[in-house]
Amino acid sequence: MSQWVLASGNAGKLAEFSRLLEPLSITVRPQGEFGVSDADETGLSFIENAILKARHAAAATGLPALADDSGVVVDALNGEPGIYSARFSARAGGESGDSANIDYLLERLAGVPEPDRGAHYYCLLAFVRHATDPTPLIAEGRWDGRILTERVGTGGFGYDPVFYLPDQNCTAAQLESTLKNRLSHRGQAMAAFMPRLQALLAQ
Ligand code: IMP
Repeated sequence: MSQWVLASGNAGKLAEFSRLLEPLSITVRPQGEFGVSDADETGLSFIENAILKARHAAAATGLPALADDSGVVVDALNGEPGIYSARFSARAGGESGDSANIDYLLERLAGVPEPDRGAHYYCLLAFVRHATDPTPLIAEGRWDGRILTERVGTGGFGYDPVFYLPDQNCTAAQLESTLKNRLSHRGQAMAAFMPRLQALLAQ
């Protein structure tokens, strides 16, 4: 049984990664269990930040490390909030938290007509065997949608109530959680990651 560290304290992510990796005899422990604090996310892209986080956790624990970085990328805002999705409103001097982020996003998109309200969620997974690993294993996922002008639905988190999925004819906040986990940017990144990991383990 090998042990990895997860560069996140999110319980939902830990459960999801543990479920996927258990059949491969890999146990995942959150970095907080080792007393590792969050890495400084100084990159300008999801991939830079995911790799920074994974290296930071690997360096602090001596274990292989897995990290992800995700957010919402809005076409009409030139890709904002992107890597700053969690802190979108706070960075602009507003409150922090999901609700303030949605309010600020809707404010920034005020007057933008529906055809220009395209967006996607993006997730980048990075795995390093050790802190200086020159060939991190990476996988990405993308989930296309549109930003509504008001909230619909109460499930999910983050920007889900305003993230409309034309294919599903509902928002991400109205999707049943198992279905969301399968369709989402994170689900897609995990699905792409698993065969690569299996190939690596078979070497
Ligand atoms: P994290 O990288 O998973 O911590 O996500 C960063 C931020 O991106 C979150 O705080 C949310 O604002 C946004 N985000 C990422 N994934 C989702 C999602 O599935 N639904 C809604 N918001 C998301």
